[in-house]
Amino acid sequence: MIPTFETFVSRAETVLAEIATACREAGRDPAEVELLAVTKTHDAWAPAYAARFGLRGVGENRVQEAIDKMPHVELPADVTPPRWELIGHLQSNKAKLAATHFDRVQSVDSPKLLQRLDRAAGELDRSLAVLLQINAGRDPAKFGAELEDAPALLETALNCTHLRVDGLMTIAPLSDDPAVAERTFANLRQLRDDLAAQFSVALPTLSMGMSGDLVPAIAAGSTQVRVGTALFGQR
Ligand SMILES: *Cc1c(COP(=O)(O)O)cnc(C)c1O
Repeated sequence: MIPTFETFVSRAETVLAEIATACREAGRDPAEVELLAVTKTHDAWAPAYAARFGLRGVGENRVQEAIDKMPHVELPADVTPPRWELIGHLQSNKAKLAATHFDRVQSVDSPKLLQRLDRAAGELDRSLAVLLQINAGRDPAKFGAELEDAPALLETALNCTHLRVDGLMTIAPLSDDPAVAERTFANLRQLRDDLAAQFSVALPTLSMGMSGDLVPAIAAGSTQVRVGTALFGQR
């Protein structure tokens, strides 16, 4: 069931209010936290709603699903098209497709994938923004580089001349214990601070927090929350 645009607007305002409250409690400026609309499994109406509302970016999990959707996003002439971010696992044989169609890839977790994306971006004569996905919650069910492997991964990334490393991304393990998400986000924040110091780079973006755990993510320093369900409904 496709919600009306008015329903979407009201949900988006609720999420923005939740972000603003979390920022206030953390002593942060809400302008530091971007709301990324996660449109996976929803058809082209979802990215169209997000863009019409004024959200700058949309997140997709699967390369082919996003590519199929992109040409069907219909927008009024005065609405800026969204930036497309890949947030789901990427197989290296799809690196060229991802580099062709996405504005940023958040799920980069291996040297091999970095090299494939760098080569593809070079062939396309473009600079591609990436985040390094880190398994900061040490969850056996999640993709992402291990915390210990992050320095070597960043070193490889910084040597990729066609990639721009914006920062880090993580997904907290599913758990009934709120301390698990808090620990995961604190780990990613600490890792970012350590890597930024060690490599003298900025790494400004911390992509962490989803519909169910955006408050602790913002408290720990998230600069981008990735929200699907709270905006578009159950998948
Ligand atoms: C699906 C997904 C989200 C959004 O999750 P919701 O709980 O629906 O907000 C965020 N990040 C990633 C990587 C996802 O796969």
